[in-house]
Amino acid sequence: MTGKHTLMLIKPNAVKNGYAHEIFLMVHNNGFKILAQKKLQLSEREAQAFYRVHAGKPFFQGLVEFMTSGPIYAAVLEKENAVTEWRTLMGATDPAKAAEGTVRKKYAESVQHNAVHGSDSDENALNEIFFFFSAREIVNAGGDIYQLHDILKNEQ
Ligand code: UDP
Ligand code: MG
Repeated sequence: MTGKHTLMLIKPNAVKNGYAHEIFLMVHNNGFKILAQKKLQLSEREAQAFYRVHAGKPFFQGLVEFMTSGPIYAAVLEKENAVTEWRTLMGATDPAKAAEGTVRKKYAESVQHNAVHGSDSDENALNEIFFFFSAREIVNAGGDIYQLHDILKNEQ
């Protein structure tokens, strides 16, 4: 994975607990540019759509309830190898298995309430970025968007 962009979410538990600022700071201090960010609350339909790859799994309904339970932050992160770099800094899905110094080790409470989301491939990163941000918002953020070019072309 060599793309320069990924999508981060700060999940409701971390926002509620007041950790959003510290998480953004960790991201910044690890060399990511926060290209764009917004605070919002997901509707049930939005959460179901965003996590559709997990539809039918035993944890799906609980995940949707959790993700709609309060405000979240969505952010576009920019760095070389952004997907892999952010997943490394984020840590394992299960905080009990997350390495020292990772965001989930510090801020996750459980497998479900694990503080943050990160895209898992360049392709999914683009889809997830465009789930939350319009082409206009990305362009106006003024970052290096050449990797989004194909999607922008498709919107013309
Ligand atoms: N999740 C859960 N129970 C599980 C596995 C996952 O509640 O047994 C939740 C958890 O919040 C996780 C999200 O579903 O972050 C998406 O799961 P995935 O396997 O994609 O993990 P991630 O990519 O977030 O590390
Ligand atoms: Mg995932």
